[in-house]
Amino acid sequence: MQINVDKKRCPQNHPCPAVRVCPVKAIRQKGFEAPVVDEKVCIQCKKCIKFCPMKAIQEK
Ligand code: SF4
Repeated sequence: MQINVDKKRCPQNHPCPAVRVCPVKAIRQKGFEAPVVDEKVCIQCKKCIKFCPMKAIQEK
């Protein structure tokens, strides 16, 4: 299992609030680009998936 950000669902026009939700700081965002999950750091807790109101963060 891997966490993926769907760029089609992410509006990419704001600082991603899910960055602060991740307990291990696995989510990084450059500017307002769609955030990226570092799979080496992610513990797959799925907090970001439940949090994102756009449902842009998904399991794949
Ligand atoms: S699943 Fe959990 S650890 Fe992984 S990126 Fe989302 S919030 Fe962070």
